[in-house]
Amino acid sequence: SPVLVWFRRDLRLSDHPALHAACDSGRPVIPVFIHDDSVASLGAAPKWRLGLGLECFDAALREKGSRLVLRRGDALEVLQDLIDQTGAEAVYWSRLYDPEAIKRDTAIKSALKEAGVEAKSFGGHLMFEPWTVETKTGGFYKVYTPFWNMVKSRAVEAPLSAPSEIPAPESWPGSDDLDDWHLGAAMDRGAAVVRPHVRLGEKAAQSRLGAFMAQIVAGYDETRDLPAVDGTSGLSENLSLGEISPHQCWHAGLRAREEGKAGAETFLKELVWREFAYHLMHHTPQLLTGNWKEDWDAFPWNQDERLAEVRRWKQGRTGIQFVDAAMREMYVTGRMHNRGRMIVASYLTKHLLCHWKIGLQWFEDCLIDWDPASNAMGWQWSAGSGPDATPYFRVFNPVTQLDKFDKDRAYVRRWIAEGRKSPSETALAYFDAVPRSWGLSPEDSYPEPVVAADEGRQRALAAYENREF
Ligand code: FAD
Repeated sequence: SPVLVWFRRDLRLSDHPALHAACDSGRPVIPVFIHDDSVASLGAAPKWRLGLGLECFDAALREKGSRLVLRRGDALEVLQDLIDQTGAEAVYWSRLYDPEAIKRDTAIKSALKEAGVEAKSFGGHLMFEPWTVETKTGGFYKVYTPFWNMVKSRAVEAPLSAPSEIPAPESWPGSDDLDDWHLGAAMDRGAAVVRPHVRLGEKAAQSRLGAFMAQIVAGYDETRDLPAVDGTSGLSENLSLGEISPHQCWHAGLRAREEGKAGAETFLKELVWREFAYHLMHHTPQLLTGNWKEDWDAFPWNQDERLAEVRRWKQGRTGIQFVDAAMREMYVTGRMHNRGRMIVASYLTKHLLCHWKIGLQWFEDCLIDWDPASNAMGWQWSAGSGPDATPYFRVFNPVTQLDKFDKDRAYVRRWIAEGRKSPSETALAYFDAVPRSWGLSPEDSYPEPVVAADEGRQRALAAYENREF
């Protein structure tokens, strides 16, 4: 009888413990993806990117004589239906860690077990299971550096290679047609604008990891902060959908460190930031929904999305070049440089005194590398309400940051067209990408700052002083 392998955010063949175990069992393997509420509730860009990922993954499975069975509905009902149809006696999957997924998977596991089906979850999405990293007193970590110190010398399992073959069942259960799911429906600009910026699938991710280690990681300590430079791995979109595993990145980083490549250690630390975000989400799921530090609940954030300032922030028309360049980069490419993320988040929450949830949701709608844990941690870190946060009195100055990290204004030229005789193609692409209803044109004059750098800083500090933290 076959084994169902239920794929979610793990669209790869190599280093996939659940798939590996299914293939090793000697039974036929039926790969399944279910369009349930967790898919329906995705933001526009991540949902569209998932569609591309599924298509690519199905093609990779077909090269191994297999395929991806697509079904829509409640996950348990779909699995039970497939079990009835195929006679499967086992369902394997890779663990996820957000509260909704945990709730769903726990219920499914016990229902399947009750029905006599082997239901087994495997690791793969993380290197360090959140419950295995404990402080000396048995608690969880709330600060990154001790977390890093605790895990940095731990052995991380060596990546598994892709199964040489995936045994197919005698007959395949029916599958939905991916096109009928319309995963790109809310993403008008997807195919024409964002698609060229996507690094799609496992093979592309692996080859990028190789190129990054060969050419970029040595200088990563310097280049990682320069938004105009291709100086980071760019693998977050692949990690987000599991097109590459963190273990594969980690071992490549270890090898680079052994070869004496200077930035390799910093790269390993960044991978551990991702683990730390998951550690926090697991132990304090309210990270996703409310101020991690509850004393921020009393802070009078603006929560009204309709405010003109919020609109200008979303549209990249704040009049602050670093903020606008980064917001446009995200709209066109589906990604934003980490320095940009910190700047735009600081500007929204500190200069504009807007609630971080407004920013979190806009990112969730626009990022092709959207990750529940890293996004929430990043926003709460920036706003000051999170664990290990930037202190409330540290307000990034988006003007001096530009002088520091975009000295020759290459990043600004790449993304801002207004006021230039011959704007760059990327800067113009933004105006083709935005909805007509926004009424933007590259011939517009560049706006005055909605809140100037110094004024916003003073205003934020004054607001904070009135509060007791
Ligand atoms: P690299 O510099 O090459 O780093 C390698 C990997 O380490 C990344 O792919 C990522 O998986 C991990 N990593 C690096 N920095 C961080 C970090 N600060 N936190 C957690 N993991 C990290 N990252 C996401 O993957 N998805 C998000 O939705 C997301 N939202 C963010 C929101 C805000 C407000 C902020 C400040 C940061 C956010 N980040 C998010 C973290 C970070 O900006 C991105 O992971 C990074 O820019 C991805 O680029 P890269 O793959 O080239 O990273």
